[in-house]
Amino acid sequence: MENLLQQPIEYLKGVGPARAELLKKELNIFSFGDLLQHYPFRYIDRTKFATIKDIDSDEKYYQLKGIITSVKTIGDNRQKRLVATFKDATGVCELVWFKGVQWMEKSIQINQEYVVFGRPQLFNNRYNFPHPEIELVKEINADGVQSGLYPVYSTTEKLKFKGFSSKALAKIQKTLLQQLKPHDVVEILPPNLIAELKLMMRFDAIHNIHFPKNNAAQQQAERRLKFEELFLIQLRLLRTKIGRHQSTPGFVFEKIDNYFDNFYKKYLPFELTNAQKRVIREIRKDVLCGKQMNRLLQGDVGSGKTIVALMSMLMAVDNGFQACLMAPTEILAQQHFEGISSLVKELGINVAMLSGSSKTSERKFIQRELESGTINILIGTHALIEDTVQFKNLGLAVVDEQHKFGVQQRAALWRKNTTPPHILVMTATPIPRTLAMTLYGDLDSSVIDELPPGRKPIKTLHKFDSARLHLFGLIKEEIAKGRQVYVVYPLIEESEQLDLKDLMDGYESFAREFPLPNYRISIVHGRQEPEDKELEMQRFVKGETQIMVATTVIEVGVNVPNATMMVIESAERFGLSQLHQLRGRVGRGGSQSYCILMTGNKLGADARTRMKTMCSTNDGFVIAEVDLELRGPGDLEGLQQSGVMNLHIANLATDQRILQTARDKANELLEQDALLQKPEHQRLLQLIKNVELEKKVWGKIS
Ligand code: ADP
Ligand code: MG
Repeated sequence: MENLLQQPIEYLKGVGPARAELLKKELNIFSFGDLLQHYPFRYIDRTKFATIKDIDSDEKYYQLKGIITSVKTIGDNRQKRLVATFKDATGVCELVWFKGVQWMEKSIQINQEYVVFGRPQLFNNRYNFPHPEIELVKEINADGVQSGLYPVYSTTEKLKFKGFSSKALAKIQKTLLQQLKPHDVVEILPPNLIAELKLMMRFDAIHNIHFPKNNAAQQQAERRLKFEELFLIQLRLLRTKIGRHQSTPGFVFEKIDNYFDNFYKKYLPFELTNAQKRVIREIRKDVLCGKQMNRLLQGDVGSGKTIVALMSMLMAVDNGFQACLMAPTEILAQQHFEGISSLVKELGINVAMLSGSSKTSERKFIQRELESGTINILIGTHALIEDTVQFKNLGLAVVDEQHKFGVQQRAALWRKNTTPPHILVMTATPIPRTLAMTLYGDLDSSVIDELPPGRKPIKTLHKFDSARLHLFGLIKEEIAKGRQVYVVYPLIEESEQLDLKDLMDGYESFAREFPLPNYRISIVHGRQEPEDKELEMQRFVKGETQIMVATTVIEVGVNVPNATMMVIESAERFGLSQLHQLRGRVGRGGSQSYCILMTGNKLGADARTRMKTMCSTNDGFVIAEVDLELRGPGDLEGLQQSGVMNLHIANLATDQRILQTARDKANELLEQDALLQKPEHQRLLQLIKNVELEKKVWGKIS
């Protein structure tokens, strides 16, 4: 039925084998159907133009119409750039290309009218446009499109070089659309849903997304296609969730009268927050219902997830099961081990620790004790999931900082018992609601949205490198109060050598400013031997050193309540979520803590927004939302591997409302027809099954 859409792309008129190869390689377009799904990412609105004299901000995009009066190349071969002079009735500005210079130079037509679209930058007090999109006005007008909207497609330098500009893509789209018959694009959504939401039919939507009749039709087409895309994902996720609730049996933890109660009544070192109590109740309900728990626990840094993990593990132990806690780094595992051991030391529970650096004899001993059931709680790194580690009766597995682990690693935990253990995954990286819905849409979710009482909000300041003396002064004041200070340098793999040099230079400048014997400094980075790293870390933890100069290895884990100042060097090079994570290392004791963001004097618009956001809020969820807006979802950690993220048109940052509707409607539909047996749901079922075949692993595993 959908034969036309399955045709290989080389068969389309105007493509041919050579260009087809490029389309496959560069844009993943293999078939006619793939081409149709290569939607425009924006439109040239031929009715709306700004003028050069209107330009007043480097944070906005502008669309201009005017004439390119001259082009010249500047610089030598290594750093060549092309500068075009662009003029309209109100003024003159420059268009600049650093890449594809030769090709641009050849293709630009002097004294012809162009539409220019881009974001300007301020240089020598004048605005110019780096790498703008440009289109010849005569070509836009030549294609006979009636409405004001002309599609713009993303393409690549290589494609452009072979003549496949956005314009050329528009041309083959048009060729294809002219061949398309209604039966080639069958409707997949049930009629009542289309009626209820007043959605445009699929066939019309495909036409209007590429060549809109008018603005309203474009909006309707976009809404329809976004909804369809998100709806299918939600339907799939919810089916997995419902299926698991119905079919995966779980251990029942009925009793909490011994360890759990005892701990709660006698040894709990503080009153639980309401949020912690609520989450513990949610977990308890899960482990009582006879189905396997798969729960995501989100809570900002310092919100107290560990105690929730511990109390959940006690529920398992109370019922004769073992529990384990897996952390992403040795340091974090060690800290969990020490913290938890000391919390339960009066309970008579056996807690052990296993990591990559455990000695062979120790490892053997632990393995024996695990198999005999002597060990109740095992804490460790991913060493826990190795096949040699066998439990007598694992009932609950907790994964801390789950975004650091891959799907495969989490999957291994499922197999540690004949009935899969309950799974609790914890993350301190707050995820915007829409993202959580999509990324973890098949998990149940809990949130700790309250910090323990008595915490003073961390004060965050942004300083330029030129204010370094002031920074030193602030650090000295803090140390004089008996406090400790972190200084963190970025370490990005690609520029590791350079970064390491920065770190060493930084260390030396701190060593000069804070000399012995009054001051002592620890240094920690990824290139050190593990023992050295551990030793330096311990010196800081024990308070023997007052300053710790480090790379981001300290991002997760360390807990030093006496550390009250976090200095982040080259803060503009960090993403928002990483800045927030780093800041969470301080503010853990009762005293006022500070985070100081050091940056170069010149900052881009995004970097300014990041600094402003950090200075204005401590709320991880707000920060996550801004992060999502700035970066778009594509870059966020863990999203690629989720396999649900190959979105063609929907945008998780901006389409929250459509996503919510899609989830609600998917829920309603499954409530009426859980197995998708009704005739009007057959196309949906078929589509979902196709995707499920491809994503088999992901579908089943938390
Ligand atoms: P995270 O959620 O980042 O893992 P932790 O579990 O490490 O946070 O807790 C951070 C700190 O807060 C720890 O020192 C812990 O003992 C303390 N804490 C946790 N819950 C409470 C509470 N309800 N009242 C007071 N302090 C708490
Ligand atoms: Mg933690």
